[in-house]
Amino acid sequence: MLKISPSDFAYLYEECKLCYCLKVKFGIYQPSMPMPGGFSTMNTKIQGSLVGKNLKTLSNDLPDGQVINQEGWVESITVPNADVFIKGKYDLLVKNPDGTHTLVDLKISKPGDDKIDKYATQLAAYKFALEYPKSGEPIKITKLALLIFYPESVAFVDGIAKVNFPPKWLEIPDDQAKFLNFAKQIDDLLTGPLPVEGKECKWCAYRQVGEKIAHPVNIDDSSNHENLDLSKSPF
Ligand code: SF4
Repeated sequence: MLKISPSDFAYLYEECKLCYCLKVKFGIYQPSMPMPGGFSTMNTKIQGSLVGKNLKTLSNDLPDGQVINQEGWVESITVPNADVFIKGKYDLLVKNPDGTHTLVDLKISKPGDDKIDKYATQLAAYKFALEYPKSGEPIKITKLALLIFYPESVAFVDGIAKVNFPPKWLEIPDDQAKFLNFAKQIDDLLTGPLPVEGKECKWCAYRQVGEKIAHPVNIDDSSNHENLDLSKSPF
């Protein structure tokens, strides 16, 4: 049974099925770039400042609810009809006034309705893991939402750059049937033949051309991944 991470759904899975399979099946990751590290620090610091607070007291544009946890790890039971399970770290868990919970993903990104579709599966997967955990008590999730911050202005005050990040709240429709179907598609992808690589991807051009230049004698036809001997992988 393979582990799938909700954080891969919006980008890696959508952008290239081959790179997705390389990560999930063989543990071969795309190299990370320095910028996302800065974003991730900002993300963690903003989240940390929210824990223990009622969102409504922070901004009138946010709903009533107490942030009770940040960056919580979840692991699910096996997803029905798919030989995969969910493992990953959600952003924020909010306790609603009626005792149920809202699961929130925090984004530093330009707000827009396109984000609703983009992140719906990711949030639905975390919801599944919280409601059907491998161990521990299930947590009932009644709402999914994005809390989006995007810098609107910067002012220097006493030599410090202060960035104005007004929060924006976007609710995400909860469609568990769609998520279960998506998980089945992933299972089919992972158990089928390796998909072909993206034709426009600059990473692949770098990988293929760079490998031909760096190790010309080892490569017969590096454009055909079926010829790759994974036992000789450096990873
Ligand atoms: S085209 Fe190649 S490098 Fe690019 S994402 Fe796909 S497998 Fe990865």
